[in-house]
Amino acid sequence: MTDITVRNWAGNITYTAKELHRPRSLTALRALVADSARVRVLGSGHSFNAIAEPGAEGVLLSLADLPTEVDVDAAARTVRVGGGVRYAELARRVHARGLALGNMASLPHISVAGSVATGTHGSGVGNGPLSSSVREVELVTADGAAVTVARGDERFGGAVTSLGALGVVTALTLDLEPAYVVEQHVFTELPLEGLDTATFETVMAAAYSVSLFTDWRAPGFRQVWLKRRTDQPLPEFGYAVPAAEKMHPVPGMPAVNCTEQFGVPGPWHERLPHFRAEFTPSSGAELQSEYLMPRRHALDALRALDAIRQVVAPVLQTCEIRTVAADEQWLSPSYGRDTVAAHFTWIEDGAAVLPVVRRLEEALAPFDARPHWGKVFTTPAADLRARYPRLDDFRALVRSLDPGGTFRNRFVADVLDG
Ligand SMILES: Cc1cc2nc3c(=O)[nH]c(=O)nc-3n(C[C@H](O)[C@H](O)[C@H](O)COP(=O)(O)OP(=O)(O)OC[C@H]3O[C@@H](n4cnc5c(N)ncnc54)[C@H](O)[C@@H]3O)c2cc1C
Repeated sequence: MTDITVRNWAGNITYTAKELHRPRSLTALRALVADSARVRVLGSGHSFNAIAEPGAEGVLLSLADLPTEVDVDAAARTVRVGGGVRYAELARRVHARGLALGNMASLPHISVAGSVATGTHGSGVGNGPLSSSVREVELVTADGAAVTVARGDERFGGAVTSLGALGVVTALTLDLEPAYVVEQHVFTELPLEGLDTATFETVMAAAYSVSLFTDWRAPGFRQVWLKRRTDQPLPEFGYAVPAAEKMHPVPGMPAVNCTEQFGVPGPWHERLPHFRAEFTPSSGAELQSEYLMPRRHALDALRALDAIRQVVAPVLQTCEIRTVAADEQWLSPSYGRDTVAAHFTWIEDGAAVLPVVRRLEEALAPFDARPHWGKVFTTPAADLRARYPRLDDFRALVRSLDPGGTFRNRFVADVLDG
C-alpha cells in the first residue's frame, strides 16, 4: 500500500481514495479485491474526468507492477494482453511477430484495458472503436473470483466497454491481422463552404483512417490527415492542398512529436497514431471533450459547430473530426450507428472551458450526441441514459457480476441510477 497523491495525465483530477495499491501478482490482486469494499482500477490515467476515482473509502488499484503479459498466438492471429499493458508495448511486440492491430487511437501511451473500457477509438469509416478487436475479457470480480467473458457469451455486449464497473480486467484477448504498411499524407485548407454530404463521405473514406483538424478561428479545416494502407488504392485527393511542411495538429506545437508524414511508408503502429510514443502527445497542457453522433448528421453537426465557432475558438487548441464504424458494445458511444466524432482539445483552464462545453452540448443535442466517457462533459445523466438503448442490459450485468457495488463509484452511479 502506498499513500501518495495520484493525478490523471492532464493534472485536472486528483483522485480521492483511501489507498493506492500496486499488486505484484494475480494472487495478491485477487486477495486484495476480495478484502476491499470499494475498488477502482487506474489505467494509464489519460481520462479527463473522475471515471477512475474510487472515493474517500475506496482503493485505487494500479496494475503497473504486474508482469507485462503480451502473448501472441501467431497461428490463431490473436494476442492475450495483461490488464496494465499500454498500446506502445503491445504494438511493438505484436509487430515483431509480423502481425498488427486493426487500428489505434491518436496516441500509443494509453493502456489497452482503460481504452476499451471508455470506448476509445481511432478513425476510419470501416474501423470500429478499439474495443471491436477484443474477443475475450478476463475479470477478477468483487469476491476475488476469475471470470472470463468471450465473444458469443450473452454478457459480452457489456463486458468490454464497461467503464470499469464489472471488476478488474486482468487480461484481454484481441484479434490480429498480418502486419501492414501505412503512409501518412497531410493536406491543408479544406473549405467547409460547399462541402456536401457526398463530398464529406468521400473525404472521410479517402484512406484507411482520415482526420480533419480545425481551430474554428475560420470556417473550414486547416489540416486533413490521410493514413493510407499500402495494400489499398492510392487516393486521388483533390479536395485540399498538400502540406508544404510537416505539421502538428495543435498550432504552434513541434511536428517532431508526430508520426512520419509526406507519404513515407512505415509500419502500421508508427503511422496510425498521430503522436510518437517517445514524445508528449497532443499539447500536454489541455482538457479534452468529444461527442459521437450518427454519421448521417455530420454535415448538420459541422454547420452547428461553425455557427458557434466564435464561442468555441477562444478556448480551443484544436478540433478533430473522425469517423468510427458502428459496434456492438452496449455502452459504446458508437453503439449501433456509423459515427462521426467531434473532438476538442481545450486550453487547460477548466473555469473558462466548462461554459463553452455546455454551449457546445446544446448545439450538438439535436444530433443525439454521446460524449466520450473519458473526457470532459456536462450532459445531464438522464439525457445520457436516453441515448443508450441497451442500458438496462448493462445494469443487469453489473447487478449479476458486482451485486454489492464494489466497483461502483460516483461516476458509474450517475450513469446507471435513476
Ligand atoms: C493526449 C490524449 C489523447 C487521446 N486521444 C484519444 C483518441 O485518439 N481517441 C479516443 O477515443 N480517446 C483518446 N483519449 C482518451 C483516452 O483514450 C481515454 O481516456 C482512455 O480511457 C485512456 O485509457 P487509460 O488507461 O488512461 O484509462 P484511465 O483513465 O486510467 O481509466 C479509464 C477507465 O478504465 C478503467 N480501467 C482502466 N484499466 C482497467 C482495468 N484493468 N480493469 C478495469 N477497469 C479499468 C478505469 O477504472 C476507468 O474507469 C486521449 C487522451 C489523451 C490524454
